[in-house]
Amino acid sequence: MIKLAIQKSGRLTDDSLELMRECGLDFNKSGTLKSPAFNFPLEFLFLRDDDIPAYVADGVADIGIVGENVLVEAEAHSAHIKTHVDIAERLGFSRCRLSLAIPKEQVYGGVQSLQGKRIATSFPHILQTYLADKGVVADIHEISGSVEIAPSIGLADAICDIVSSGSTLMSNGLKEAEIIYRSEAVMIQGKHLTSEQIKVLDDLRFRIHAVSRAKKTKYIVLNAPTSSLDRILAILPGIKSPTVTPLADKGWSAVHSVVPEDTFWEIIGRLRSEGAQGILVLPIEKMIV
Ligand code: ATP
Ligand code: MG
Repeated sequence: MIKLAIQKSGRLTDDSLELMRECGLDFNKSGTLKSPAFNFPLEFLFLRDDDIPAYVADGVADIGIVGENVLVEAEAHSAHIKTHVDIAERLGFSRCRLSLAIPKEQVYGGVQSLQGKRIATSFPHILQTYLADKGVVADIHEISGSVEIAPSIGLADAICDIVSSGSTLMSNGLKEAEIIYRSEAVMIQGKHLTSEQIKVLDDLRFRIHAVSRAKKTKYIVLNAPTSSLDRILAILPGIKSPTVTPLADKGWSAVHSVVPEDTFWEIIGRLRSEGAQGILVLPIEKMIV
């Protein structure tokens, strides 16, 4: 049995639960603190994201899903967390950045211009490390929420906060000045796991890999003139080699292959110019290699 801590309610919650469902776990998320998976030796703990690194370090939870920004901040705050927690997997969702922002009417004079200024943030350690590296000494005010209103109420000259689109900054009269950290969701694990728990975690990670590989690829089926097969096959990467079957119509073959999502349209264009027709594109649910 392994205990997985996830954010009770927030920006990580839906994607974390969806990933676990895609990994085949069956569970109910009720309003309670704990909930078991019915078909996997795992129990969910629903917590505030800030508390997850410490709970994993202390063994209250065995693994957890948090923003890397929260992990790094917690590690800088506590040597115990730093030595008792590792990243098990990078999960690729909840991508965001931690940025310095200043009132939009000001001209940004580089990080040096923040010397001696008051900066409000929920991530004082990440900010402090960044500023120290640049030789800047500023007055860092730690606040736990609504950081973006600090300049307008006279609490700070600048802020350091999470940005994804920048619209929150804009609606508070601020502009992004400098990116100081990029984050994504990570799965963390405690150092205390038993060998049995490591096996459960390995099984879960195996499933996570199958899900994330599948998301990065598409399955394609196409018809090609047999005379251009060599050139068509040279375009297709495939997991191993593509499958080729002759069609009833002599001179034509069907080709099945797997193509990466990021170069998908480019590959389709090249295939068409080599005479490929009737191209079908299918999503892949899981990919086990
Ligand atoms: P809690 O109540 O659990 O303490 P919170 O208010 O501290 O929640 P959220 O705003 O839900 O935290 O954000 C959780 C994490 O999601 C952040 O630490 C960050 O890693 C990521 N995140 C935050 N904002 C965004 C965003 N706009 N886009 C993508 N990811 C984000
Ligand atoms: Mg939080």
